[in-house]
Amino acid sequence: MPLDLQPIKSSNDNVMLDELGDQLRELSSTQDEDSWPAVQLQLCGSAGVFRWFVPRLWDGYEWNDEDVIKGYLKLSSACLKTTFVITQRTAACRRIAASANDEIKNRLLPDLASGKTFATVGISHLTTSRRHIGKPVMHARETETGFVVNGFSPWVTGASAADYLVIGAEIDEGRQILFVVSIGTKGLIVDTGQKLVALTGSQTGAVRCEDVFISKDCVLSGPVQNVMSSVTGTATGGFQTSTLAIGLASAAIDFIANEARQRPNLTDQFQALNEQLVSLQADLLSMARGEMSRTKDELRIDANSLVLRATQSALVAAKGSGYVQGHPVGRWCKEALFFLVWSCPQSVLDANLCELVGTD
Ligand SMILES: Cc1cc2nc3c(=O)[nH]c(=O)nc-3n(C[C@H](O)[C@H](O)[C@H](O)COP(=O)(O)OP(=O)(O)OC[C@H]3O[C@@H](n4cnc5c(N)ncnc54)[C@H](O)[C@@H]3O)c2cc1C
Repeated sequence: MPLDLQPIKSSNDNVMLDELGDQLRELSSTQDEDSWPAVQLQLCGSAGVFRWFVPRLWDGYEWNDEDVIKGYLKLSSACLKTTFVITQRTAACRRIAASANDEIKNRLLPDLASGKTFATVGISHLTTSRRHIGKPVMHARETETGFVVNGFSPWVTGASAADYLVIGAEIDEGRQILFVVSIGTKGLIVDTGQKLVALTGSQTGAVRCEDVFISKDCVLSGPVQNVMSSVTGTATGGFQTSTLAIGLASAAIDFIANEARQRPNLTDQFQALNEQLVSLQADLLSMARGEMSRTKDELRIDANSLVLRATQSALVAAKGSGYVQGHPVGRWCKEALFFLVWSCPQSVLDANLCELVGTD
């Protein structure tokens, strides 16, 4: 397995992106589904993928939204597990890069860009998880020199492989902070990853804080109301969730295309799905250029619908063979369910439910 790929510095480097995609696809079909994608991440690091998202000042390539989307579309059609882990890593890097804390940026970003270190996020309890409980699940008490943090973040992908975590906590009256904490800090407990319907290999589990002291110089943003929307360029639930859904849908549609070459009865179905795919990809890229008036949530609703229908259509085409453990189509069907629960705003949940219930 060659791990010294040429750095992919532009989203137009199609040959190199395809080569990386081929290697990821091969690994995802041979590796145990529940394993952490260590080799895949090493490959991506060697191909410069982690630099796409980091500003030039810290040795990144600073790709714009459109280029990042083109890259993510290729990666997610090859291996959703690896690409999903990269999105959580990227979310941590972006929040560090967007912070006004120069010391922490200088200290962490060069090694994160090269892949020498790994960071991930536990922030959903500030946006889409545990919000109905009415009191913060991760609480920070302010002291003279920093904060004492107690509670848990229910979902943190790759925490067991991380060097640093970017975590959110609430103080009082809705004021929140985002901070960086090193693995091994006293009182920080990383739970074992949960056994999931799919993507178990992403090693997603809870992180608990028991009187964890966070000094002021480890705070990235806040205290402020709605810390997640207080820093530009880091909005949650942006294009990446839709992009990965569309990437996975394209893998399933490619499968149907291959089958249709020998089975003409599949041609119309392939063409119908492919037209929807091409149209959604075009919408996604024009939105990334700021050219379209659709909302991100509308795009997400269509992306969720397509990935579920495309993966299940691939299963119909693969028939019983696709239902056998180890066939990629069965894995794609399970992975597609993730988009029903990953960082879904209420309007997306409502629309997904209407489609499933049959009232849209
Ligand atoms: C595989 C995976 C990986 C993830 N990785 C990350 C990550 O790396 N970082 C990160 O920050 N987030 C991550 N997330 C979190 C994700 O983005 C969502 O926030 C999460 O899926 C929301 O689900 P929840 O069960 O926590 O929602 P909740 O809203 O907390 O729902 C939990 C339960 O509460 C009950 N409930 C919900 N709403 C109500 C209500 N209004 N009234 C009464 N009861 C209610 C229901 O019984 C529900 O089952 C991940 C999620 C998954 C599944």
